[in-house]
Amino acid sequence: MKISCPHCADRAITRTSKRPAPVFYEVYAQCINPDCGWAGKLHIEFATTTAPSRKPNAAVRIPIEPASRRVLLEQLTAQHS
Ligand SMILES: [Zn+2]
Repeated sequence: MKISCPHCADRAITRTSKRPAPVFYEVYAQCINPDCGWAGKLHIEFATTTAPSRKPNAAVRIPIEPASRRVLLEQLTAQHS
């Protein structure tokens, strides 16, 4: 994943990350442009499911994307007929 600096649009490199929840990352980023010098934190969240896991974790609830729901229902219907 390429990230650019929100201020100067130069490249930003990611440093360390924390994972306070299975669906959530905190990533520290730093702009490579020494004239800019911006550094900050990104939040990355698993927002929607487009294909369900075959090894689901019961503690993880990631909503199914509405556009994918119809396709998944069609797949389920096809498997059971
Ligand atoms: Zn910058």
